[in-house]
Amino acid sequence: MFEGLSDRLGGVLDKLRKRGALKESDVKEAMREVRVALLEADVALPVVKTFISNATERAVGADVLRSVTPGQMVVKIVHDELKNMLGEGEEINLASTPPVPILMVGLQGSGKTTSSAKIALNLTKKRNKKVLLASLDIYRPAAQQQLKVLADDNGLGILPIVMGEKPVSIAKRAMDTGRKEGYDAVILDTAGRLHIDMELMSEVAQIRDAVNPVETLLVTDAMTGQDSVNVAKEFADKVGITGIVLTRVDGDARGGAALSMRQITGCPIKMIGIGEKIDEMEAFHPDRIANRILG
Ligand code: GDP
Repeated sequence: MFEGLSDRLGGVLDKLRKRGALKESDVKEAMREVRVALLEADVALPVVKTFISNATERAVGADVLRSVTPGQMVVKIVHDELKNMLGEGEEINLASTPPVPILMVGLQGSGKTTSSAKIALNLTKKRNKKVLLASLDIYRPAAQQQLKVLADDNGLGILPIVMGEKPVSIAKRAMDTGRKEGYDAVILDTAGRLHIDMELMSEVAQIRDAVNPVETLLVTDAMTGQDSVNVAKEFADKVGITGIVLTRVDGDARGGAALSMRQITGCPIKMIGIGEKIDEMEAFHPDRIANRILG
C-alpha cells in the first residue's frame, strides 16, 4: 500500500532536500507535484486542496525560506500535514458500563462479518476482554451461520441463533445475555445491502435506538477507493458513526480511501483489515502510515 505515492513524493521531496536556498517558486512547483501525486493515489479532491493550501501557506513562510535547511523544513511540513490529514490514532472505545455495545454497519460484501470476528479476537487478545458476537443478518442465507463458524473456530462467544427472530429482538437478547454472562463487549453484526437504501438505514437506526451503541463502526472496502469514501459519508450523515474499519487494505495499492476518510467523514479510521485471516486486522496508526509514505 502507498508504494506509488511514496515513490512520487520521495522523488519530489528528495529534490527539495538536496537544494540549498529555496525560492517561493521552488516550493510552489514542488507542491504542484505533490498535488498530482495525491490525486494519482485517488485521494478525494477536497482533501487534496486543503492539504496543498495548508502546506503551501506554511512552507512559503519567510522563516522556512530563510532557514539554513529550507528543503528539510518543507519535507517536515508535508509530513505534518499528512499526519493532520490522517487524524489521531484512536482505539475502539470501551469506556462505558459493560457490556459495551458495538454496532457494525456497512454494505454487503464490505467485510463486516469477518471484521466483527476479527475485532472480537483483537479485543480478546490485545485488551483482555470477554466479547460476545451476535449476527443480526436474518436476510442473507447463512450469514448467521458464517459468524457462528468464525466464533466457534476461534473460541469466541456467540449468541445462539433463534430462527425467525427479528434484528431488534436479537440485539436486545444479545445485550441481556452480555449482562447476565459478564461480557465486556457485545459486537452486533448488522445486515448489509448492495447499495445504500432507506430500508437499510431505517433498520440500522432502529437497532441503534434499541441498544444505544458506544461505537457504531462502519466497515468499508478500501479497494473501492472514492466509492468507499462516499459510502462512509452517507452513513456518517444518515445514521451517525463513531469510527471506520477499512478492509482489504492489503489489496489497496493507492491508499486514497485511507487518506481521505478522516477529513471527508470527520470520523477516525480505527482498525484496518490486512488479509482474509482472522488475525489479519490491526489498529490504524497515522504516524506509521505517514512515515511509510515519506520513507
Ligand atoms: P460482509 O458481507 O460485509 O459480511 O462481508 P464478509 O465478512 O463475508 O467478507 C467478504 C469477503 O471479503 C470474504 O471473503 C472475506 O474473507 C474478505 N475479506 C474481509 N476483510 C478482508 C481484508 O481485510 N482483506 C482481504 N484480503 N479480504 C477480506
